[in-house]
Amino acid sequence: APALLWFRRDLRIGDLPPLAAATGDGRAVLPCFVLDPRLERSAGDRRLAFLYDSLRFLDDALDGRLLVVRGRPETEIPRLVRTVGAGAVYAGHDPSPFGRRRDAAVAAALAHPDGDSGADRVVLELIGSPYLVSPGRIRKSDGDPYKVFTPYFRQWQAHGWRLPAATSSDQARIVDPDDVEASGRVRIPPAPVASPMRAGEAAAAARWQDFVGSGLARYAEDRDRPDLDASSRMSAYLKFGNIHPRTMVVDLFGPGTPGSDSPGAGAYLRELAFRDFYADVLFHWPESAWHNWNRGFDEIELDTDAAARARFDAWRAGRTGFPLVDAGMRELAETGFMHNRVRMLTASFLVKDLHLPWWWGARWFLDQLVDGDIASNQHGWQWAAGTGTDAAPYFRVFNPATQAKRFDPHGRYVARWVPEFGTDRYPEPIVDHQAERAEALRRFGGL
Ligand code: FAD
Repeated sequence: APALLWFRRDLRIGDLPPLAAATGDGRAVLPCFVLDPRLERSAGDRRLAFLYDSLRFLDDALDGRLLVVRGRPETEIPRLVRTVGAGAVYAGHDPSPFGRRRDAAVAAALAHPDGDSGADRVVLELIGSPYLVSPGRIRKSDGDPYKVFTPYFRQWQAHGWRLPAATSSDQARIVDPDDVEASGRVRIPPAPVASPMRAGEAAAAARWQDFVGSGLARYAEDRDRPDLDASSRMSAYLKFGNIHPRTMVVDLFGPGTPGSDSPGAGAYLRELAFRDFYADVLFHWPESAWHNWNRGFDEIELDTDAAARARFDAWRAGRTGFPLVDAGMRELAETGFMHNRVRMLTASFLVKDLHLPWWWGARWFLDQLVDGDIASNQHGWQWAAGTGTDAAPYFRVFNPATQAKRFDPHGRYVARWVPEFGTDRYPEPIVDHQAERAEALRRFGGL
């Protein structure tokens, strides 16, 4: 009987532990992907475009043998198991709250096949995760999860991670889905908008090699500068698993590489650890996706009336009259990407200068970002809002003018995204930063 290889957040062939496990005993495999309408509805158009394109590249890599079906996984996976008489289902862990609920439902459906159909129980085997260290692995000596990044990072480094596995589909016996009767195969949908960046495993590898060869050396110094093309832009590839971070770490520290004494490699590793940390936090506190992690902030006064909505609209449109904020919001709306430094500033501005709920901004980011990710985004927002684990203290309010001077010193980033800045077509500031800063502190003091 063939094994089912169920792709989710790992849209690649190389370094894919579930592929190695599924083909283990020379078994045939049926690779599949389930288009879940719930996810299709909640992902913005650009993220969908990236997903569909990733699936097309994956299908090509499998010589057109990726079986794509549409429906609820808890229905579709057991149906496919029955259809081909599969003996096992292999996939990588998806530790997001949605992923865990979905996988529990699929595992339950597989364990209790329909009444008296006589079908055997099949196990959902989850192997590996999209992280260097899977969420839940690292804990304090008393067993509690970490709430502060630095000690987590120390443990994380001591923990270590697996080396990449050289997996390939060349030797695998892959079932042709067109030979499967009533497979339910659907075409991979056309991208709803042009994907702002090339998706897929080959594009991820090319971008990464390019960055290691040219950007990494200056990464530690320049990563905070939105006016320079100084960061790796690997986030969407990591989000969809077009590459696994293990592969990247080997290129950073393996033989013949920049090595551990390169400040770029060290700084980069720390960012990958941040990605793991936020996934770990979300794993332990799933409700922190949409609620203050620190419930002490639940009572803070927020503005949600019509005037607040109007300010929210100005923020989304990049028309706040604060040039670096507006540049970031326009980069986001036009490209589906925003530089990290500007993500921090625009988020801080929404919370501290406009007094809006952070989850309004987080929702907008998720709609727009190609790399939109529930763990990194929500906890990036909670960090900026001062409500998260290890957050910036609430009273530290970013000053948009100072940030612009430090991180866009020649004004090039602003000039690129807000070309009318300095003319009378550019809006006046919608708020007075000093006054709103004082107002934020007043509200904080009232807690
Ligand atoms: P690089 O500087 O090249 O970093 C390398 C990789 O490390 C990134 O690709 C990313 O995977 C990881 N990384 C870097 N910084 C962080 C961080 N602060 N937290 C977690 N991982 C990090 N990142 C997302 O991937 N998806 C999101 O939805 C997201 N939303 C964010 C929202 C806010 C308000 C903030 C402040 C940050 C958010 N980030 C998010 C983190 C960070 O901004 C992006 O990962 C980064 O800008 C992506 O660009 P890059 O790949 O060029 O980054």
